[in-house]
Amino acid sequence: MEWCVSMPKIELHAHLNGSIRDSTLLYILLPSFTYNSTSFLFYELARELGEKGTIVFSEVEHVLSKNERSLVEVFKLFDLIHNVTTDHKTVTRITKEVIEDFAADNAVYLELRTTPKRNDSKGMSKRSYLEAVLEGIKSVDSVEVDFSRNINVDASSHSHGVYDICNGYERKKIYVRLLLSIDRRETAEAAMETVELALEMRDFGVVGIDLSGNPVIGQWLTFLPALEYAKKQGLPVTLHCGEVPNPDEIHAMLDFLPMRIGHACCFEEEEWKLLKKLKIPVEICLTSNIRTETISSLDVHHFADLYKSNHPLVLCTDDAGVFSTSLSAEYALASSAFGKYSLGKREMFELAQKMIEFIFACDRVKGELKEMFAKAASELD
Ligand code: 5GP
Repeated sequence: MEWCVSMPKIELHAHLNGSIRDSTLLYILLPSFTYNSTSFLFYELARELGEKGTIVFSEVEHVLSKNERSLVEVFKLFDLIHNVTTDHKTVTRITKEVIEDFAADNAVYLELRTTPKRNDSKGMSKRSYLEAVLEGIKSVDSVEVDFSRNINVDASSHSHGVYDICNGYERKKIYVRLLLSIDRRETAEAAMETVELALEMRDFGVVGIDLSGNPVIGQWLTFLPALEYAKKQGLPVTLHCGEVPNPDEIHAMLDFLPMRIGHACCFEEEEWKLLKKLKIPVEICLTSNIRTETISSLDVHHFADLYKSNHPLVLCTDDAGVFSTSLSAEYALASSAFGKYSLGKREMFELAQKMIEFIFACDRVKGELKEMFAKAASELD
């Protein structure tokens, strides 16, 4: 749907390494290849790593040949990807390309999340990983990027449209902010290190903390001190919540009162009631939920109920590369799959516009986005 591409959109749940371009992953692996199929790509990636002795190919082979992978299988893919992407130069490249891809799809605000990683063999610390990400943001030149909290903006000289005037030319503009992810495999100390890093880097576009990683690994209590600390310091937190049935954890997470949660796939009646009472915004990733078989089909997806109940929600991609999707494809899917709620162009636009309230960036950015959407609204029909 053309209008899904052309309307301004907000992305609040995108994992950096999950958003990698197929072509980049292929290039890193096999510079001479020109194939384009994602399944083939992962197959080649695993085969290469198997030959190098990094992984046992036979253990992951079955994961690679199918499009619907369980959540656990998807995490095996992430390990494969990290194996070849975790060096400074590649992290910088992926960051630049992911921003360019979202901007090309008319995302006007992108909250990109990534797990700062230590990789001793590459001389990488969590801090140098983040610096490589920042380098990637700075190196974007095809669009105008606003990424720093304290960027000095003379409001009167700034256009608040989707396009900025630069040297007489119209250039697309995108606001980019970062969330630092804590991986559920990490220790309490590593989680605290990530929060400290986020606090230090607040002036460089870091606006919050995310808890993600394989949901069947790790205990909520391990991460709680770091998350409490983030909250106390005024750093917003979003949690991957209810990706697997785990009522105790879901309750503990909701009691923590995060600013947003991701997925909420395995909630029971009682948890829906609590969520709705607390009005915690939900980051919805339709393709991801279907591909990972967390939700059996769109007909039973909770998006429809939350939308109908006027519960705050945001439409997101999760991992555009891994799941071969895009933000406009998620809008098109929501619009067509929940037709009985008549989600036409106007409704989808209003949904995107409402998301401004749930971003973690400052009021200045919120104000500018509101102006941007107001301008786009007047040109809608
Ligand atoms: P990165 O943090 O390396 O930039 O992005 C990939 C990582 O994001 C994965 O290794 C995983 O920790 C996290 N991630 C990506 N997609 C999902 C998801 O659907 N659920 C959860 N829980 N974590 C995810």
